[in-house]
Amino acid sequence: AQVNVALGERSYTIDIAPGLIRADLARYLPQSEILLVSDSNVGPLYLDAIQAQLGHARVLRYQFEAGEASKRLDVVEAIWSLLMAERFSRKCVLVAVGGGVVGDMTGFAAACYQRGAGFVQIPTTLLAQVDSSVGGKTAVNHPQGKNMIGAFYQPLSVLVDTETLDSLPARQWSAGMAEVIKYGALGSLDFLGWLEHNMAALMARDAVAVAEAIRVSCQMKADIVADDERETGRRALLNLGHTFGHAIEAHEQYRGLLHGEAVAVGMVMATRLSVALGWDAPDNLDRLVALLRAGELPVEPPPGMTPADFMHHMGLDKKVDAGQLRLVLPKPTGSAVISADFDPQALARTLADSCR
Ligand code: NAD
Ligand code: ZN
Repeated sequence: AQVNVALGERSYTIDIAPGLIRADLARYLPQSEILLVSDSNVGPLYLDAIQAQLGHARVLRYQFEAGEASKRLDVVEAIWSLLMAERFSRKCVLVAVGGGVVGDMTGFAAACYQRGAGFVQIPTTLLAQVDSSVGGKTAVNHPQGKNMIGAFYQPLSVLVDTETLDSLPARQWSAGMAEVIKYGALGSLDFLGWLEHNMAALMARDAVAVAEAIRVSCQMKADIVADDERETGRRALLNLGHTFGHAIEAHEQYRGLLHGEAVAVGMVMATRLSVALGWDAPDNLDRLVALLRAGELPVEPPPGMTPADFMHHMGLDKKVDAGQLRLVLPKPTGSAVISADFDPQALARTLADSCR
């Protein structure tokens, strides 16, 4: 399948197929200078197969230790040093082979190298294939905050080889599934219903169902990004569950829960708030919880986390006007709204109901 991201002269395609990296990769990477960037888990699994396709080019590799802790500026700086030491020109292409950590860092490195080198994404986690590889958000973390240093920089293309998911650990699979379910909660009721019918097949990693889930997810993200590349409006809908989720991640200091797991809990909390406000039907909360459970995802905050912890990490314990908090809240039509205009009492009740 192919999905187009329509951004004028920066438009690109997302190609989704099994075995993509083992066949005809040179078609997508005609450049004569190529840097393959990966991490210590993914590199040993796939870089040899990729490089075998690239006999026409000078190919370099850079591999860093897997994990969010590597998402730092000094690691990106090491990539730039390698490019300069090897005298790679601005016409080179940096290829991200890995999950969202590799993609975000490689994209940022490409955006800045000589003011913009080529950038291609080969995402290998479900989360990266349905979310982070599409849309051009690149970043590294700063000691004072996640993703605080970055740029919008679109790739030249995204190559989704669904076979690379075969090696993905089960927990990472579920974490990616949380973002797929997010598209279901945000989008058409058709996709939500499709997910309900196919979650068992998706968890069994049925190839046909998985490819379809990735295609629909990429199409939804592509449409939203084409509409609002810089997140001045509608793109913020993709943050459904993320405000509560980030509070959980901050509380856990990135140790306990994976991002997708925190988002799963966050979506339940956002939907619970929407129900408390009378904006969403209780039935939709039940459907979401059932879907997340089928995806082997958590639906409650970690034990011991209190409403006060949420208020603290959401910035609501400061003298900030609570009305400033903008949340993505589901509506019964299978769509959602971004609202700062809700009853704080309902939020307090939602937090109390969620933390126990
Ligand atoms: P990740 O890149 O850390 O990958 C998760 C783990 O899976 C790592 O240990 C990795 O080595 C391993 N792995 C990756 N592919 C594998 C494979 N095929 N087989 C076996 N192991 C494999 O994490 P992630 O969940 O992919 O991405 C999370 C990151 O993405 C965060 O830093 C987040 O900020 C970022 N993100 C960015 C965007 C965006 O729009 N740019 C969106 C969402 C998330
Ligand atoms: Zn997310």
